[in-house]
Amino acid sequence: MTSNIRNFVITAHIDHGKSTLADRLLEITGTVEKRLMKPQFLDQLDLERERGITIKMAPVRMSYALNAVPYTLNLIDTPGHADFAYEVSRALAAVEGAVLLVDATQGIQAQTLANYESARKAGLKIIGAVNKIDVAQPDQIQNAVMDLADLIGAGTEEILKVSGKTGEGAEKLLAAIIEKVPPPKVIPNSNFGRGLIFDSFYDEHKGVVAHIRVVDGKFSINQDVCLLATKTTTKAKEIGFFLPQLRPSTELNTGEIGYVATGLKDPGKLKIGDTIIGNWKLEIGNCESLPGYAEPRPVVFVSFYPEEGDQYDELKQALGKLRLTDASLVIEPDASEVLGRGFKGGFLGRLHFEIAAERLAREFEIETVHSFPSVAYKVDGKLITNPKDFPNDYKVAEEPITRTEIVTPPEYLGAIIQLKEAFRFSEMTTETRKNKIVVKANLPLSDLIRDLDDKLKSVSQGFASFYYELIGFAPADVAKLEIRVAENEVPGLTRILPKRDISREARTTCEKLKELLPQQQFMQAIQAVVGGKIIARETIPAMKKELGNFGKNGGDRTRKMKLWKKQQRGKERLKEMGVKSQVRISASIFKELLKK
Ligand code: GDP
Ligand code: MG
Repeated sequence: MTSNIRNFVITAHIDHGKSTLADRLLEITGTVEKRLMKPQFLDQLDLERERGITIKMAPVRMSYALNAVPYTLNLIDTPGHADFAYEVSRALAAVEGAVLLVDATQGIQAQTLANYESARKAGLKIIGAVNKIDVAQPDQIQNAVMDLADLIGAGTEEILKVSGKTGEGAEKLLAAIIEKVPPPKVIPNSNFGRGLIFDSFYDEHKGVVAHIRVVDGKFSINQDVCLLATKTTTKAKEIGFFLPQLRPSTELNTGEIGYVATGLKDPGKLKIGDTIIGNWKLEIGNCESLPGYAEPRPVVFVSFYPEEGDQYDELKQALGKLRLTDASLVIEPDASEVLGRGFKGGFLGRLHFEIAAERLAREFEIETVHSFPSVAYKVDGKLITNPKDFPNDYKVAEEPITRTEIVTPPEYLGAIIQLKEAFRFSEMTTETRKNKIVVKANLPLSDLIRDLDDKLKSVSQGFASFYYELIGFAPADVAKLEIRVAENEVPGLTRILPKRDISREARTTCEKLKELLPQQQFMQAIQAVVGGKIIARETIPAMKKELGNFGKNGGDRTRKMKLWKKQQRGKERLKEMGVKSQVRISASIFKELLKK
């Protein structure tokens, strides 16, 4: 019965314990047997487990009885990092409630504020909970409760206290969810199924699988279904729900969260945010699509190419499938003289890009070589997203600017303001929010994606956090830095940099390349070039080949001279014809270079 369904997300700043709390809920409801339990059970990607972060939203259906009344609880665990905010926003559209979790030892952080705002805008019932009460000091718990109550406009007695580690308070949380989160709305007299597609993935046997939230009516196995955006019709080969693994069923009813396997082999047929219709033959004329989602706006651009040149088609297919599970990925073809055919990808941030590249390697076994991540520039009215297209001369260049909010305990404020030396902060303001200071400043996105994350962590011992949104473009004093190796430009290493940083970056890049590149039979010059002028250089000497000794009793000197001459000629030839391929910088070197 729809009135016994509750759909909710757990949302919080990264590391505040969402996935661990979800573990306890899975245990209490008997969804996962205790002996099969492992920490952060819903983090199912290897990559998530290794990095200890949630990348994908993870839906799971739980059954729980409160006062002898059975309920179906659909939980969606969400990622915390800003780069995955699109995942969170899509999960929010599929539920009625949100548990906003705050780690008592950390208090409210930047993402907490942002999560609260998005849950509120989505019209969700918000339940505040303070986590990690097993380790927090009583005053930390008290402060976190007060701050959270203040933020969400609730009484302090309404804030739950829980421990994802010990499970304390978890049953009370379930009861609060049942009592406070409204059941899904029922639209009367609807005789066809209509669902919001909030996520998807590709399965070799089931084809394209859509994660859906049923909004009207119901879906049944083997029923005809239609994907509205692409007008693709097919049959529901399999339907079911998440436990969190797929559990086939015969029906999905109004308000439920589950999946429909379409059997479709072309990933391009499914659009995230689209509406899926069941029984469409009867009703398609009257079918209205659901509001769906705003298109994700990529802000970080990276060109990437298969490490093995002949894997282009495989890479293309893999990207299609990856897009099903990563709706924020924007891809278009790109080609480079040196690196061959590849793609230009648009990402929501630097971490988003790193994760996508790693998923390609692990899930599809395709290693890629890629360029430095770059932002988009507006140069004399033209939008430039690939650094190699950036002109040497321009009248006005503009770059994307963020309003960045840093939340920090007061003791690190000084160190954070000092970051002005390395980052182009402007219009900085500070305000006190209970036990924390909120620093707001404008910051070019290109600075932010460089390494704000790391720098902030290191100056605040991990206590400060940030969140940002783009506020527009502003004039930028930047120039293009090109790198040449043995006279050949290496396109992936071209970057747009603030003029104030350019000679330092030029030097360090040349130095690093000198360390990383293997010696060749010929000497290699590494040059950093700005506007046609060389501003830094290093030289990798040619490999020395043992030639023997021409010395005193030099033996057959003429023979050795001949050999030497032959080698010299060989080097010349190599230099003439071989050089292009010599410049190909291997993926591992690119990766080293990209490390900060
Ligand atoms: P998420 O990023 O919000 O999903 O956070 P995780 O669930 O991955 O937890 C982050 C870290 O906090 C992990 O090391 C957990 O073991 C730890 N943690 C989570 N909840 C608790 C808790 O209630 N008490 C303690 N002591 N540690 C916790
Ligand atoms: Mg998590």
